[in-house]
Amino acid sequence: MDDGIPVELGHLPVGGFSGWLEEMRAALRGEADADVACGTCSACCQSSQFVHIGPDETDALAHIPAELTFPAPQMPRGHVLMGYDRAGRCPMLTDTGCSVYEHRPRTCRTYDCRVFAATGVELDDPGKAAIAARVGQWRFDVASPEDDRARQALESAVRYIRAHADEMPEGSAPQTPTRLAVMAVEIVDRFLPAPETP
Ligand code: SF4
Repeated sequence: MDDGIPVELGHLPVGGFSGWLEEMRAALRGEADADVACGTCSACCQSSQFVHIGPDETDALAHIPAELTFPAPQMPRGHVLMGYDRAGRCPMLTDTGCSVYEHRPRTCRTYDCRVFAATGVELDDPGKAAIAARVGQWRFDVASPEDDRARQALESAVRYIRAHADEMPEGSAPQTPTRLAVMAVEIVDRFLPAPETP
């Protein structure tokens, strides 16, 4: 069947859906970095993305020139964003990869493009086409009841956010596909069935 994936790109196995979801939630809680099999892919570093850096990220801030950052709009003092060049590339990206990899911001440590494949949220911005191509390669296993429950819960979370975005407090409704997908992971608990009591 032609699923639109160029043959030379192929599919990339993720593993079980529920295991991935747990790992993603741990990364968002700051308990671990995202463990993504990026290989030579640096699509997310050259897709016109602003990189948020919090005031507590002293290591990243010490390794990224201050002139490459600016105050993050609508965020408390000390939060900054790093922009990108005319080609959409992060200024820290070199031909051999991230020049501050060991010191990269939390945004980069937790970025996991598999979240789009998991949630079904589409990246419709042409500037994100390289990420969208990578997203199209990921394949989850949904082989167990846990995997199926996790997938359904995440789909429900996306639907809920879309249906209630207008009722959310000012500034909290997701403005980008990334924020929508990540928010769905953040609230997925509400849509998972309660554990069975013995
Ligand atoms: S800081 Fe490094 S990992 Fe983060 S976007 Fe830039 S090049 Fe990529």
